[in-house]
Amino acid sequence: MNSYKIALIKGDGIGPEIIEEAVKVLDAVAACEGFDLEYTELLMGGSAYDITGDPLPDETIEVSMNSDAVLFGAIGGEKWDKLPREKRPESGLLRFRKALGVYSNLRPAIVYDELINASSLKPEIVKGVDLMVVRELIGGIYFGEPKGREGDRAFNTMVYTRDEVVRIAHSAFKIAMERSRRVVSIDKANVLDVSQLWREVVEEVALEYPEVMLTHMYVDNAAMQLIRNPKQFDVMLTGNIFGDILSDEASMLSGSIGLLPSASVGNKIGVYEPIHGSAPDIAGQGIANPIATISSASMMLRYAFGEVVAADRIDNAIKQALAEGYRTKDISQFDAVELCSTNEMGSIIANYAAKCKR
Ligand code: NAD
Repeated sequence: MNSYKIALIKGDGIGPEIIEEAVKVLDAVAACEGFDLEYTELLMGGSAYDITGDPLPDETIEVSMNSDAVLFGAIGGEKWDKLPREKRPESGLLRFRKALGVYSNLRPAIVYDELINASSLKPEIVKGVDLMVVRELIGGIYFGEPKGREGDRAFNTMVYTRDEVVRIAHSAFKIAMERSRRVVSIDKANVLDVSQLWREVVEEVALEYPEVMLTHMYVDNAAMQLIRNPKQFDVMLTGNIFGDILSDEASMLSGSIGLLPSASVGNKIGVYEPIHGSAPDIAGQGIANPIATISSASMMLRYAFGEVVAADRIDNAIKQALAEGYRTKDISQFDAVELCSTNEMGSIIANYAAKCKR
């Protein structure tokens, strides 16, 4: 029997609630498909700081490195916002990604037909949207030096090296080869030197993928085009901060940030996590949408473990739950629906996943 070791990081806010549902669904498909999942719970974020004084204890890195994959909820919250930067939950997450070398963050944005009315855009604009943001994750302005604050002056630095751009560009082109072979590289090359290097290097890498059509777009235009005509996009290749912002924007095409998964890969161990944060405004109320995390768990089965049938079971179960009219609060506004809690949505999907045909 195949057995996989999962480092489980619940984090803060809604993190524990959504991870619990993902585990429920994972256990259901593992039982059906006959493989074993071994979870090790690890601390990160504000909850880790409260217990250990560090938002990223060494044990979390060590055990994660010795696992087959990391399933991650979310970190952060107002309670920890006033701490010195290195003690803040977000610093822990950035250090974690750097330590694992997960430089490529894959963020699919798919509009489910069943949720066509949940988007704030017109159905004819969003129907059929299926795009992938490939975001560089461990470079750029979130990591660049120097950074700091000197009284009333504060600064961060956007830095990219050739090697960093080369590897993320390869990641995007490889994914494009499995999709419709179109890459739009997003930058601000009309203003930023770092974007001029980015563009130059992406064009060089593109020569190795003659079947892929590469175009460039300024980030401000991309923000507008995503709303105007999102179907023009297939793979969007971006730096760290541009991808952070554009993928949140893309999430609204689908109706809610609570729907979209992500995979952060690059080195040996991948991190699978929803694109949203810890949503402190709804934590503990049982209304968070667990679908983004359940879908991230499906990406983990597919990409980290090669358990494609089990992943298909989960993806089909999510579609079935939505088709049957089950909705958490965030996606309930526009349809006649069966409103359900975080816990109920997890159980419904687990149930369907266990019954779904292979
Ligand atoms: P957020 O993504 O947590 O929330 C934005 C909005 O979306 C909120 O109104 C929230 O209620 C809603 N939302 C998010 N996830 C949802 C879900 N699953 N179901 C229903 N609604 C959902 O972003 P924010 O409010 O800007 O940040 C809150 C905290 O999360 C901050 O401390 C921030 O630093 C942190 N954060 C963490 C991550 C991460 O862990 N990867 C990512 C982004 C933000």
